[in-house]
Amino acid sequence: MAATQQRLFGTNGVRFVPGVTHDLDFVISLAEAMGTYFGSGEILLGQDGRLSSPAVANAAVSGLLSSGRDVAEAGLVPTPALQYGVKTLGFKGGVMVTASHNPPQYNGLKVSGPEGVEVPHLDEQRIEKIYFDKSQTRADWKSIGVARGEPSVVRNYLNGIRSKVNIKAIADRKFNVVMDLGDGAQSVAAPYLVESLGCKLVTLNSVVDGSFPGRGPEPTPDTLNDLSAAVKSTGADFGVAYDADGDRAIFCDENGRVLWGDQSGCLLADFVLDRNKGGTVVTSVASSQAIEAVAKKHGAKVMRTRVGSVELASTILERGAIFGFEENGGCTYPPHIAVRDGGMTTALMLECLAGRGMSFSRALSFVVPRYHQAKTKVEVSRKKVDAVLKAVERQAKGEVERVDGLKIWTEERSWVLVRPSGTEPIIRIFAESETQEGADQLVKKFERIVKSASS
Ligand code: MG
Repeated sequence: MAATQQRLFGTNGVRFVPGVTHDLDFVISLAEAMGTYFGSGEILLGQDGRLSSPAVANAAVSGLLSSGRDVAEAGLVPTPALQYGVKTLGFKGGVMVTASHNPPQYNGLKVSGPEGVEVPHLDEQRIEKIYFDKSQTRADWKSIGVARGEPSVVRNYLNGIRSKVNIKAIADRKFNVVMDLGDGAQSVAAPYLVESLGCKLVTLNSVVDGSFPGRGPEPTPDTLNDLSAAVKSTGADFGVAYDADGDRAIFCDENGRVLWGDQSGCLLADFVLDRNKGGTVVTSVASSQAIEAVAKKHGAKVMRTRVGSVELASTILERGAIFGFEENGGCTYPPHIAVRDGGMTTALMLECLAGRGMSFSRALSFVVPRYHQAKTKVEVSRKKVDAVLKAVERQAKGEVERVDGLKIWTEERSWVLVRPSGTEPIIRIFAESETQEGADQLVKKFERIVKSASS
């Protein structure tokens, strides 16, 4: 493979295992390439709470300084706080040291442009080209960059969110909220946000710990049993959980039922579209068809993209969308910032429920048509992916969409999505139907097809 065809960026930034797949000298060279790409100005750098984050952040600072960029160090912050800081505090760009929801051994680097939004794929390739060509700028002693601390990032983030919601309406409802912080970076922000909005708060796993001893770095319906139990035992209005870097929020209703992010996303989309009197909503091909029904009610438009936050963010910007969401709990509210943000999502949910004046579960069943979903994944080596997709396509009888993998409509309200992962050698299978049995059967059927075509 030619050097320039090699990739470092996956679906969401560069990911690696420090000291195993890559050493810190890799981080220094890559950060030099990022600094060279930016060309001028000061870069805001933040880190999540992973065990390797201080070391990786120091190496990234060294690389940026070596390329001649100045660096402001935000310290431990949620990813959306860093990105909002880039947008509103006047930085040329941002670098976040995080591997989001990946297991504890991983770390990574995520690059944002001056709007605080992840740089587009073409610019990722420009950074990769600089790295592989070894064409990084290396400043001499008199033009090397300067580093300083930037302590205002979290305060600026919380004030930014508070300015986008009706604080009085939320405070008047005196919500009781349970929050599972998953030992992650929102521990330094989200609890203060919710308490400052007049809510009573119970927190779980709220001490930042990069070994993620609580429920692990990724919030899913399988990992949130403690949140669900705490909501029921305290009689809370709802529960919310974040991933390790705090850009995704997963909710559970007052009965402790944990929702996939596209259900809570549809509820919020309805709220935002109502207030905005229509607009465009962006979501990936993997989320529920419920959004089309919600959007129709408001005369709004739905744009479907490939899976991944970079895809969503660029479509949201291009189309001037008013809201974006993913089934993994990543919601984007562009009047705040055009990236997914667990804190902003929480504040919007509080305002949405305050306005409805009903319980979470009632609001959900009132607004969002109920579909059932099932999902699984199958290990498939990369060289077999094309053959597997061809075999899947041969089984398709209904309409096939090819935005990302194959989305096959089997009946009017049932679909299955067979999609190769962008980061791992697996194929993901998602299905949605009007009954749980229907969704389960679709997943099983296509799991068999994928397994037999890949064996
Ligand atoms: Mg994340």
